[in-house]
Amino acid sequence: MRDKTKESEIFNNKSTVYGPVKSWRFGMSLGIDPIFQTSTCSFNCFYCQLGQIQDITDAIKEYVPTERVLEDYKKVNEAEETIDVITYSGSGEPTLASNIGEMITGIRKLSPDTPQYILTNATELYRPEVRECLLDLDCITVKLDAADEKTFQTINRPAEGVTLGRVLMGIKALKQSYKGKLEVQSMFTPLNGKNLQAYADILKDIQPDLVQLNTPKRPYPSEWHRENRGNHHKIFDYKVTELKTLDESAAKDLENFLVKETGLNFLSIYR
Ligand code: SF4
Repeated sequence: MRDKTKESEIFNNKSTVYGPVKSWRFGMSLGIDPIFQTSTCSFNCFYCQLGQIQDITDAIKEYVPTERVLEDYKKVNEAEETIDVITYSGSGEPTLASNIGEMITGIRKLSPDTPQYILTNATELYRPEVRECLLDLDCITVKLDAADEKTFQTINRPAEGVTLGRVLMGIKALKQSYKGKLEVQSMFTPLNGKNLQAYADILKDIQPDLVQLNTPKRPYPSEWHRENRGNHHKIFDYKVTELKTLDESAAKDLENFLVKETGLNFLSIYR
């Protein structure tokens, strides 16, 4: 049986603002969910912590009003003593929200000194208006799980018309105008470890400030639960599927290879 009180207390289940969640890298991270009503993404990654994405789309529109997000933010901000960073993520791809730029500006006015980060799958960065909205962010983390179109389609299972070429074009265009920190986050499984030279070449081309190497240690939920926003623990009973991960030794070999090939900075899930 679900403990409703516990869920809402811990994860602010009825709010577009959730957490703060303790992050080993950033301290207390407060999540902003610009999607909120249902899981909506231009990807349907087979490892997504939200489970099967309910609305697989790359349609940009207003999913939740900016005023609602700012009101939710004010409430949590007043109640919390320590918020080290604000992260846009939540129930899907945050750049699908047409008002993401308004949210960033509004929260900047309320908390000018708190760094703002976004986790994005980069599918919409090919649009100049989306890139423009993100320029004030302190850090943009882009997802990159594949170095070829076939693997991209298998792992990320994108909305129709979304291609790896479009993602890479968007990231490179962003790099030209964005002055903040650009990071790449990659999920490695036995599925995508075969084309490493091509992956290294893409990284060399992008020149991110940091590359995070992950493997899906969290099981795949059978269905969407809003509680899974930023949540690393299962707090009530629902069906999950365990996924194949890269073990520590394989992750170390991968990291060594990529460091040698690219000379970039890496962070591995095992370190
Ligand atoms: S991009 Fe993120 S939210 Fe979208 S399906 Fe993949 S893991 Fe889930």
